[in-house]
Amino acid sequence: MPLYEYRCKSCGQLFEKMVSFSQSSKTQECPVCKSPDTSKQMSTFASKGSSPAAASSCSSTGRFT
Ligand SMILES: [Zn+2]
Repeated sequence: MPLYEYRCKSCGQLFEKMVSFSQSSKTQECPVCKSPDTSKQMSTFASKGSSPAAASSCSSTGRFT
């Protein structure tokens, strides 16, 4: 089962939960304040997008001028 990260909109709590595919579209209850008002976080995709290596290779081309 995939592990999803959720953020509670009520108290701001971040929590992870193992959710089966059939349950992934359902909202998860906050473990702290029991609020059902939570949103799924896309943290795994966001961390892969920004790489500092791409920025350093870009500055090396500036030595041509
Ligand atoms: Zn909460």
